[in-house]
Amino acid sequence: MRNQGTSTSIGNLPIAVIGAGPVGMAAAAHLVQRGLRPIVFEAGAQIGAGVHSWGHVQLFSPWRYVVDAAARELLSETNWQEPDAQAYPTGTELIEQYLAPLAEHRALAPHIHTNTRVMAIARQGRDKMKDSGRANAAFVLHVEHSDGREEQVLAQAVIDASGTYTHPNPLGSSGLPALGERVLADRIYYGIPDVLERERLRYANKRVLVIGSGHSAFNALLDLASLAEQAPLTQITWAIRRTDLSQLYGGGENDGLVARGALGTRMQQLVQSGAIHMITGFAIERLERTTDGVVVSSATMSLPAVDEIIATTGSRPDLSILGELRLGLDPSVEAPITLAPLIDPNLHSCGSVPPHGVDQLSHPEPGLYIVGMKSYGRAPTFLMLTGYEQVRSVVAALAGDWVAARDVQLILPETGVCSTDRNSGCGSENGATACCSPATASVAAHNTIDLLPIASFDRGIGLVALQPIAVAEAANACCSSVVQASCCAPEEKADCCGSDTSGGCGCQ
Ligand SMILES: Cc1cc2nc3c(=O)[nH]c(=O)nc-3n(C[C@H](O)[C@H](O)[C@H](O)COP(=O)(O)OP(=O)(O)OC[C@H]3O[C@@H](n4cnc5c(N)ncnc54)[C@H](O)[C@@H]3O)c2cc1C
Repeated sequence: MRNQGTSTSIGNLPIAVIGAGPVGMAAAAHLVQRGLRPIVFEAGAQIGAGVHSWGHVQLFSPWRYVVDAAARELLSETNWQEPDAQAYPTGTELIEQYLAPLAEHRALAPHIHTNTRVMAIARQGRDKMKDSGRANAAFVLHVEHSDGREEQVLAQAVIDASGTYTHPNPLGSSGLPALGERVLADRIYYGIPDVLERERLRYANKRVLVIGSGHSAFNALLDLASLAEQAPLTQITWAIRRTDLSQLYGGGENDGLVARGALGTRMQQLVQSGAIHMITGFAIERLERTTDGVVVSSATMSLPAVDEIIATTGSRPDLSILGELRLGLDPSVEAPITLAPLIDPNLHSCGSVPPHGVDQLSHPEPGLYIVGMKSYGRAPTFLMLTGYEQVRSVVAALAGDWVAARDVQLILPETGVCSTDRNSGCGSENGATACCSPATASVAAHNTIDLLPIASFDRGIGLVALQPIAVAEAANACCSSVVQASCCAPEEKADCCGSDTSGGCGCQ
């Protein structure tokens, strides 16, 4: 796989793809289709190693939304049987029935290197400060094999599709690990554990605290609830930071993706049934190991001790491997500067995203593209279809076909127009503390193509009903039937709940 030496013309070098997840593999398929040579590095032992870590989870996108067009074309040359377009794969099925056969295609197989982690990338012979000849210098990738061997590989361009799943956000509400979080690592699972099978013993008949309010939390909680039916001493507590619960469960039957809507609906029913003890407005500061178990505290209250914590608090990109390259990233979202405002959950509570491609994904470092889940930085709203269009556009540009590169189109399930400018910020995750009167989400027509309501896998932002123009009465968090750990003062409660402060209008 090596392209050592300095005399090689940069145009003869392969194009490095970091990560053999759905988007990295789609990039490789597009490169091959364009007659370009990929070299794919996958840190894990298998194709789709990231997906493998949540392999037991069923996708909420059916097959028709998770197969890339170039990949399908390659696979159609083989004896591949395309799965039922309407069926919903699990992560494992996505690998077994799509990514693995794709990786075995003879046009791709020789170019894929599993067990090979990209440690760092630079411009050959030029550190970050050096301008001269930069654009024409090859990229040099430092890679490490699982047996410890190190190598340098040259590439003419780099497509970083390394995802974010391996870099979970910590539990601390400020974005830093909570006090005690590191030393309690043995009691915390970051992601969605397979509580019904692989990790069953760890959770059965235990006191389990789930943190986070996105679909990952839903998946973990629903599985825990099933486990509790078989192991009745299992106790489930769900703590979330937000106090505004109006969008917590998503669009229900209005959701363009039926399975995703159903997930929220089932979750809501579960909470209402009392099977889960829910705490809202809880911002974690500290974890302590006590004789009774792990005690998790905010600034003002501590939760009852638990045995296990499941952290479904989102993830963030690992920018360290790109440290020697010149990046144009938004300082908060950590997505490319022109993409960031299109996906920033502070601006888009219903998650619209316009088609975007090579122009939005370019950096001050020519030839470098961050795509896929990682292109969204810390924004929690990425879908595979978006990544497939990103790599189609980037690869077209690398092939010199700028017309195709700029003809970006994203055909996703329709939502109609949905772009919010929430005028109150009431009860948001961003720290609003006042009790709010029912807020009206003011909805403006967006001048972009609006797409399906995008799920937050982990932070629960960006769910919305699918009305063409969604002017939604936001439910009042303080009047909800769950106890608010931090919400409103009693006099404010009267404002928002009126005279009816019964029925669990539970500010503390
Ligand atoms: C539980 C869950 C359910 C989801 N369901 C859906 C859904 O239904 N529909 C949908 O459209 N999207 C869904 N997504 C969102 C998203 O589409 C997926 O996360 C998807 O896997 C992202 O693809 P990716 O290729 O960008 O990243 P990943 O799948 O994360 O792949 C990145 C790969 O890069 C590798 N890697 C990382 N660092 C390095 C390195 N330094 N060197 C070499 N290799 C490296 C990793 O091992 C990994 O295999 C879901 C996400 C989660 C977490």
